[in-house]
Amino acid sequence: MPEDPAAKRRRTKRPGKRRLFVELAAWMVGLGLFAGLVFPPFVVLLGVPPSLAYQPSFYAACLSAGLMVGAFNFLVVCNVVRPRVNMLSDGMHAFRKALVEDEVSKDLPYRNANRFHVPVDSRDALGRAGDSFNRLIDVLVSARRMEESVRDFSNTLASQLELAPLCREALSVMLARTGAVAGALLVVREGKLECVAAYGLDDPEGLLGRSDVRAALGNLKSRQVASPAGVSLKGRPDAQPREMLLLPLEGKGAPMGMLVLASLQPFAPDTFRLLDFFRQSLKLALQNALSHEDLGRIAAMDSLTGCYNRRMGMERLVEEFSRSARSGEPLGLIMFDIDHFKPVNDTWGHLAGDRILVQTAHAAQRVLREGDVLVRYGGEEFMILLPGASLAEACGIAERVRTAVASMEIVGGGPERITVSLGVDAAPAPGVDRADALLQRVDDALYQAKSGGRNVVVPASEPRVSV
Ligand code: GH3
Ligand code: MG
Ligand code: MG
Repeated sequence: MPEDPAAKRRRTKRPGKRRLFVELAAWMVGLGLFAGLVFPPFVVLLGVPPSLAYQPSFYAACLSAGLMVGAFNFLVVCNVVRPRVNMLSDGMHAFRKALVEDEVSKDLPYRNANRFHVPVDSRDALGRAGDSFNRLIDVLVSARRMEESVRDFSNTLASQLELAPLCREALSVMLARTGAVAGALLVVREGKLECVAAYGLDDPEGLLGRSDVRAALGNLKSRQVASPAGVSLKGRPDAQPREMLLLPLEGKGAPMGMLVLASLQPFAPDTFRLLDFFRQSLKLALQNALSHEDLGRIAAMDSLTGCYNRRMGMERLVEEFSRSARSGEPLGLIMFDIDHFKPVNDTWGHLAGDRILVQTAHAAQRVLREGDVLVRYGGEEFMILLPGASLAEACGIAERVRTAVASMEIVGGGPERITVSLGVDAAPAPGVDRADALLQRVDDALYQAKSGGRNVVVPASEPRVSV
């Protein structure tokens, strides 16, 4: 609908103070002249002889007096009202200028809002106008500050793709912004809720099992918990949080994580509104970091067996070798290869061969400890990293793998049983100063296992130990 031209005029018209004061002058002088004009008839009514009252000189004197009173009134108004109107107008003008400059230079020249406040020294309409203007500035400046900090927050988080540092960074900003003394950032990772960052809490992992946390995450509704039982502050047995805020984060309609904040005082009433400003950026940054993690995981995995692939396996081997060299802790290494696998493919087909590869990997994985790393080195050859395992322990684990594979039931068609040959070694070992030297010794041991009859474990520096 086209805008009413009168309304547009009203909106765009700038009320000039000069015109107002000209009007005021005209009115005051006009009133003075009017008083001068009506004064002679008025004094006639009071009994002054008309010959005297209507004399041109008396009229002239009355008009001059009226004119002078009008002019004098105008001067008084100008002295009392005009400076205050000017003050208001100058203040508004300066603020408007700063706003425009800010938009151009983006360096926020009006950071100090008080600088633009106009003095308020009366309780009339002018005083109220000044006061409203000052409040308007405060609101605008605090909105700008909020916008600025949300922007900084988003920029900082956007540049961080690693989940743990991202969560630590986000948590510290939230703690500082809300005045909370402790908190945690919980994230749903591979379907499991985990505490990725925490500050000031005695038992952050304990949050994961709390029913109020689970409920808030389930229905994606923020909650305030007064005097939360079981939440205590690290190193402060005397201080108990008065309030805990649970702010679930949702991504693609599903729970993605939760921000937990604890405070010694009840949170300010607008804390949820404040956190809402940051929530969107945090969600996006978390989503990015989780996708980055997923991509990293996909790039590190062998798509058939779900083990680490060779590239990742080699990286882990170099890492673990250096760690072992630094700490003096042993590192066991096993290489194993399926025996006579080519005839399996030739007889039962490649699909059956693939299935047997997967089954073999699962059988090996089942006998490993947490922290051991199974790698598909290539084809039907696997490598196992055993951090902390000596040669004897690594041989024991290799023997378990050999037995597990040899005793597994082949499902979906294939030979009656599958066997593997294994070469084993462990660092530190004499002359082994690099990861590839260790790998070479294990590979040699595997070769010996193959040439020694297969389905055996052969340690690198020892003769074979089992058949
Ligand atoms: P050896 O006991 O000496 O190890 O005999 P082998 O037959 O296992 O050894 P060889 O290296 O000659 O054959 C390995 C076979 O593994 C050849 C290849 O077809 C098969 N293979 C390698 N990768 C895959 C795979 O991803 N899927 C299937 N089905 N077969 C694979
Ligand atoms: Mg083979
Ligand atoms: Mg092979």
